[in-house]
Amino acid sequence: MTSEGLPDLRREPHPNPTPTAERERLVAAPSFGTLFTDHMFTMSYTEGQGWHDASIQPYGPITMSPAAAVLHYAQEIFEGLKAYRYPDGGIGLFRPEANARRLNLSAERMAMPKLPEPWFIESIRELLAVDGGWVPGEDETSLYLRPFMFASEQFLGVRPAKEYRYLVIASPAGAYFKHGPKPLTLWVSDEYNRAGPGGTGAAKCGGNYAASLLPQSEAMENGCDQVVFLDAVNYEYVDELGGMNLFFAYENDQVLYTPKLGTILPGITRDAIFTLATEAGWEVRETDYSMTRWREDAESGALTEAFACGTAAVITPVGTVKGRSGEFQVNGGEAGKFTMQLRQTILDIQHGRAEDTHNWTMRIA
Ligand SMILES: *Cc1c(COP(=O)(O)O)cnc(C)c1O
Repeated sequence: MTSEGLPDLRREPHPNPTPTAERERLVAAPSFGTLFTDHMFTMSYTEGQGWHDASIQPYGPITMSPAAAVLHYAQEIFEGLKAYRYPDGGIGLFRPEANARRLNLSAERMAMPKLPEPWFIESIRELLAVDGGWVPGEDETSLYLRPFMFASEQFLGVRPAKEYRYLVIASPAGAYFKHGPKPLTLWVSDEYNRAGPGGTGAAKCGGNYAASLLPQSEAMENGCDQVVFLDAVNYEYVDELGGMNLFFAYENDQVLYTPKLGTILPGITRDAIFTLATEAGWEVRETDYSMTRWREDAESGALTEAFACGTAAVITPVGTVKGRSGEFQVNGGEAGKFTMQLRQTILDIQHGRAEDTHNWTMRIA
């Protein structure tokens, strides 16, 4: 299998693409995840043959067998990254190689085929070459890219499938928060968990999200925005949110704590924060961080700020933490200074407004 050029690449332009004026109207006020661009990228995999039939084609329904393995045993993985409109009108990505690498780590855990990493980048380049006009330009907006892979083989037996499809679709995303980030209210689930040791917590797979929906609904019924998952063994140590990693800032010590990798998703935003916080003079420590410590240190004021991070919402302060045993606030429920500084720093790099001293951005137009 060669990784030079997408295999059998075919470009089939949309016969009636969205007219420019209409596209500009749509892109100006997008609602996340409901509006998609004119095209999609798709490619197939067959055991023995490898990847084949790459194509850019009009966005639309795909046909598959009702016996496709993904519909029964959930062999499905995905990635999430954004294309940003730079101040000079160009388009850039933030650390797409890291998404390519992570997709393959997820593939390995789910017994799925790897995708040569250059092809991951090329698939996005090809899609943006036809749909670059869908990258919005307003402050803090972006075009959200969703690469994903699933088992398409028609077979009900339980074993890794022999056929897969890989697609990339794109959805314009508005500013997550219209007037700056509102501190999150979190619900601590002491009944459900998302990942145990040896499980799939480190893989970005749809199944992890399916398991998080019931506790997420419980969080919402309790007036919270998101659920905090604890470790599956003791229900004592913090893992992460349903789709975001967590950090705890101790300003007096200039130390930032975050749960160590293992059962959590290795976030690319999380990884970038290690570098940016270190450059700001903070020490970052990966550690077991208990619920007891979170509450006690928030109440004593030793813990000065807490925040969640991920591609979708970037960096978002945590204001209030609720659970069956009561509630407490971090930093009086307000967004903290360090959180907001980090947020601005990373946004400026992502949107091409600050110099990229880490070689994190990839200009593609
Ligand atoms: C995608 C994801 C994150 C955030 O990862 P980023 O690479 O920073 O976007 C965190 N937790 C979970 C469960 C995720 O699926």
